[in-house]
Amino acid sequence: MATLPIFVSLSSEGLFTCPVNASPVDYAKIYPDPESEKAIMGSVVYCIHHKEGCQWSDELRKLKAHLNTCKHDAVLCAAHCGAMIPRVLMQDHLRYTCPRRRANCEHCHTEFSGSALEEHQGNCGHEPIYCENKCGAKVQRRHTQQHLQQHCSKRLVPCRHCGQKYTQDTVCAHGEGCARAPVPCPQRCAAPVPRDLLDAHLRDHCTAAALPCSFRDAGCRFKGSRQAVERHTEESCAQHLCLVSAVAARQARQLDALRAAVARLSLNCTGALVWRIADWTAKMAEAKCKDGVELVSPAFYTSQYGYKLQASLFLNGNGAGESTHMSVYIKILPGEYDALLRWPFAHTVSFTLFDQSSSPDRACNIVESFVPDPTWKNFQRPSKEPDALGFGFPRFVSHEMLKKRNFVKDDIMFLRVKVDPSKIVAV
Ligand SMILES: [Zn+2]
Ligand SMILES: [Zn+2]
Ligand SMILES: [Zn+2]
Ligand SMILES: [Zn+2]
Ligand SMILES: [Zn+2]
Ligand SMILES: [Zn+2]
Ligand SMILES: [Zn+2]
Repeated sequence: MATLPIFVSLSSEGLFTCPVNASPVDYAKIYPDPESEKAIMGSVVYCIHHKEGCQWSDELRKLKAHLNTCKHDAVLCAAHCGAMIPRVLMQDHLRYTCPRRRANCEHCHTEFSGSALEEHQGNCGHEPIYCENKCGAKVQRRHTQQHLQQHCSKRLVPCRHCGQKYTQDTVCAHGEGCARAPVPCPQRCAAPVPRDLLDAHLRDHCTAAALPCSFRDAGCRFKGSRQAVERHTEESCAQHLCLVSAVAARQARQLDALRAAVARLSLNCTGALVWRIADWTAKMAEAKCKDGVELVSPAFYTSQYGYKLQASLFLNGNGAGESTHMSVYIKILPGEYDALLRWPFAHTVSFTLFDQSSSPDRACNIVESFVPDPTWKNFQRPSKEPDALGFGFPRFVSHEMLKKRNFVKDDIMFLRVKVDPSKIVAV
C-alpha cells in the first residue's frame, strides 16, 4: 500500500466518504478486512480540517483522537444554543453571537441574552439619539417627547403678541419687530400701544399729545391735550372768527392780484385786434331805437409796453353819420407804461371791415386809416378818465353798403383795428 497520505473526509456523525467515488460510507457498516484495514489504518492522512488551516498529518488511526482536540473541529456551543462552532471560534461566538450569551446594554447596562439584546438595541430608552427636528441636540430616547414639547429650539411656539407660530429660537427676534408688540407711547401717555396702532393712537387717542387748535391755519397758536383743545375751541369763537375773517380779506387781495396777473397775461399786445361782433341784428335793432348805443372792444396794447387802446363802434352811427352810417373810433386808454411813451400818440390806425364772402378772391373789404394829427387833444397822454370819444370815422360805412356784401354773415361782423408805428397809410 501506498504510504502517501490520502484524503478521507469524516463527518461529525462518523460517516466516511468513499475516497474512490466520493459516495457516503457508513463507518459502522464497513466490515473490516483485517489485512486491508491494517493497511488503511496505517496510511498517513491530513486532518479533515486541513483546508481550514490544520497542519496535522499522521496515520489514519490517530485521526479520531486528533479530532477530539483539533481546534478547527466544530463542537456544540458551550452555552447550549445548539450551534456547532469550531473550537477556534467558540470564544467569539460565546461573547458576540451566541443567542444564549449574556450581555449588558451599553446604554442602560441591563443584562440581556444575545437575541434579547439585539431586539433591545434601537429601542433602549437610555440611548442618546439626535432630535428629529434637527435642532442638533442629542437626548435619551425616553426623553424625546419631553424634549420636543419643552426644550427643543426648533419647536413651534406662538408669538405672545400676535399669536403666529415661530420656532423657539426665532420667536424672540420676531417679537422685537412684531407689529402687535406693545411699544411705549412717544408722548408718554399711560399705556403701551401695539406698534401697528401707534399712528392711530397718536392721531386720535393719545391723551398726552399736544394737539394744535384746529384754527391753526388761520393763525391760532393754541396747543394742548385733546380736552384742552376742545375747551379752547368752545371758548374762542370770537377770536377764531376774527382770524378767519382776516384770512378771507387776505385771500381776497391775493385773488385781485391774481386776476390782474391773469388779465396782464391774456392781454393782446400785438397792435392788432380782430373784433368779433356777434348777435349783430339784435345789437343793430337796439342801436336804432336808443340814442348813443356804443359798443366797445376789448382793450389791447400796441406792443408789450406800448399804448393801451380800445375801439368803439356805433352801429347806427353818430355825429355826421347818425342813422345812415356805422361809425368807428379808436380811443387811447390810460395804460401802465404811458410815462415811458412818446406823446402825442402818432401811430397809423387802420380799420378793416371784412367781407365774409365764401370765395375769398371776390371778397371786398372796407379799409379806412389815418395818421393822427399831433395837435388833436385825443392823442395827448390820457388822463385817468378816458375820453368819451376817440378819433375815427363817423361815416365809416353806410347802412346801404352793409346790406350789399357779406359784411354780416351768420349774424356776426368782424372788424379789424390795426396800429402801425410807421406813418405809411395802409389801404
Ligand atoms: Zn485538526
Ligand atoms: Zn451558542
Ligand atoms: Zn439599554
Ligand atoms: Zn430638538
Ligand atoms: Zn408676533
Ligand atoms: Zn399716547
Ligand atoms: Zn384756537
